[in-house]
This record gives sequence, structure tokens and C-alpha cells, in this order.
Amino acid sequence: GSTIGILGGGQLGRMLSVAASRLGYKTCIFEPGGDCPASHVANYHFQKNYDDKDALIAFAKSVDVITYEFENIPTSALDILEAHRPIRPGREALRISQDRLTEKTFLNELGLATAPFANVESAEDMIAAVSEIGAPSILKTRRFGYDGKGQARLKSAEDAETALIDMAGAPALLEGFIDFTHEVSVIAARGLSGEVACFDPGENVHEAGILRTTTVPARLSASQRTDAILLAARILNALDYVGVMGVELFVTRQGLIVNEIAPRVHNSGHWTQNGCAVDQFEQHIRAVVGLPLGDGQRHGDVVMENLIGEDMDRLPELLKTRDAAVHLYGKAQTKPGRKMGHVNHIKGKAG
Ligand code: ATP
Ligand code: MG
Ligand code: MG
Repeated sequence: GSTIGILGGGQLGRMLSVAASRLGYKTCIFEPGGDCPASHVANYHFQKNYDDKDALIAFAKSVDVITYEFENIPTSALDILEAHRPIRPGREALRISQDRLTEKTFLNELGLATAPFANVESAEDMIAAVSEIGAPSILKTRRFGYDGKGQARLKSAEDAETALIDMAGAPALLEGFIDFTHEVSVIAARGLSGEVACFDPGENVHEAGILRTTTVPARLSASQRTDAILLAARILNALDYVGVMGVELFVTRQGLIVNEIAPRVHNSGHWTQNGCAVDQFEQHIRAVVGLPLGDGQRHGDVVMENLIGEDMDRLPELLKTRDAAVHLYGKAQTKPGRKMGHVNHIKGKAG
């Protein structure tokens, strides 16, 4: 059997390893941290840093294909890895999604709507951005933000100065605040031969910038559902993408607006583990090794609930709850806000 290399050792890497194992593949993770969620289940672990050139080469040579569970991989490391083994999804998807400015520009060029935005790299930029975008708005670091980190909300133009201080000098984007009715995401996949398969969109509820629940089916009309899937496919095709992508959308009365894309399996796709024959993790593995994709068909209605920090106190009760499929990441509960696991509540058969 062949071996799949995974960059990153978090819960997404762990669940990718489990899926790979079910299909008879071995996995090798590259992750500087020691006791991480994926290290408990992957077959091999390169516990090395991303600036260790020899380690990167040895890692690449020990695997057949390389994928990743996070998008902030240093470009220098990607250059080294790519000289030895294919990286899937490819470099273009990473380049675009590593920076919110590049990402939104790419989406707009594809004809897709995003929040209005302005680049902010200085105090002068900020003044111009506030006069262009106005308030309410959100200032976001262009790179490295997740779970709502690196963001400052502007209720009015007077908040501009404190918001800019929050960015600590990092390049940022001022985004107009979208008055959405709800949020949904499409978990889409594209295979090596270009076929696209999407899961049914899920409806997402965030709390303090962190995903709280995903409910499937989402509240969408038939045409909105078609729109969501077609726009996701447009993004994947434009990137000649191979693998699973999460596309986050705002639902507004004017139509669907793309919030952001993630070139990897996505927290809002965890419901597929108990709602579909082929879940997003297996779908991603299938794509990167060149197997046919699952069709994305959903057999059940599911509510996925993240278990964050103190939610773990409810574990004994959840384990006794009928139709609750508990998934845990094997993490020590060291900080509040840490994603410890999730529960898929099965709500009945689809259709
Ligand atoms: P993730 O963990 O999903 O990568 P992130 O840190 O990249 O999160 P965003 O997805 O940009 O953050 O924003 C987090 C949440 O904040 C969104 O899901 C949405 O609820 C809200 N939000 C972000 N941008 C806007 C906006 N322009 N208008 C209204 N709400 C927004
Ligand atoms: Mg994000
Ligand atoms: Mg997001």
C-alpha cells in the first residue's frame, strides 16, 4: 500500500489519517509538535520544523503524495516538498487562500460576490478604508487568522484607531459588515480527473467567531442550493483543484456572498461522518490519491455540535444520548475555547 503525507497534526489530520487507514493507506504526518491529535493515529510522525530542509526532503521521499490540514504552510517548505512529490490540493489554492486580499480579489475576478473590502497597511490606508467602506465593518488580519482571531469590529468610524492597534502592524483588510440572514457552507470536492461532487450545504452558527453548530439541511430554497453548489464548483474548476474545499457563504436577500474559502477539509463538514456513506475525510483521501469520489449523497439529517472547552463537562450525558455520535480528538483540555471534539446528532432519515 502507499503512504499519504499530511502536513499538520491537528484534529483534521487525525480524521484524515483514520479515513486513509480505512482505505488501506498509511499516513505520515509532518508536525513540529509532539503529542498532537494526529500523532496518535498516523503511522509515522516527522516531528521537525518547517525550516528543516533535510527533514522536509526525507518526509517527501517517504510518501507518495502530500496533502495538508492547514493553509499556512511556509512557501519555502512547499518549494522543497514539491520538488519531490505532488502536493494536492495544488500551490495556487494555497497561495490564494493564505491571504484574504488575494482571496477576495480572486473571487471577485471569478464574478463571485464578497463583502466590500479595502487593504490596510498603514494609518493612512485605514483612514481611506473607513471613508470607502464605512461602518459597521470588520478589520481582519490578511494572514493567519482563524476562529475569529485577528479581527476587530468597528461599530462606528470612531473605533478605527483601536481596531488598527489590535492588528499590531500586520497587513489587514477592512470588510464591510454583511447583513446576512444566516450562514451556510458548501463542502465541495474535485477529483484528479476533474469530476466535482458537493455535499449538501450546511447551516452554520458561530459564537464569538468560533463555529458552534452545523445543521443539515440548511434553510435554502432550491435555487439558492443550486447557486451555492455551482459557485463552489466554479471556484474548484478555476483552481484546477484536487481535494476537498470548504466554501463559507453569507445568505442575504441580494443573494449569496462568499465569506472565505478553506483549501482543506472543514469543521462545517464534520456532519458528513454520520450523514453520508463517504464522509469529507474519505472524500479528500480519495481525491488526492486519484480514486473515484463518493457522490456526496446524504442519508440523514444531522446537527453537528462542536465540543469546545467546558462543553466536555457534558460528555457523560452525551455518551448516553440516543443518536448522538461523539468524536473526540484526544487533546488535553488546557485552554478555554479549544476544540476538543464534536457530536453529530442524527435527526432522522433524509428526504
Ligand atoms: P474560520 O475559523 O472560519 O477560518 P476566521 O477567523 O477566518 O474563521 P471569518 O470566517 O472571516 O473568520 O469570520 C468569522 C465569523 O465572523 C463569520 O463566520 C461571520 O459570522 C462573522 N463575519 C466575518 N466577516 C463578516 C462580515 N464581513 N460581515 C458580517 N459578519 C462577518
Ligand atoms: Mg478563515
Ligand atoms: Mg470562517
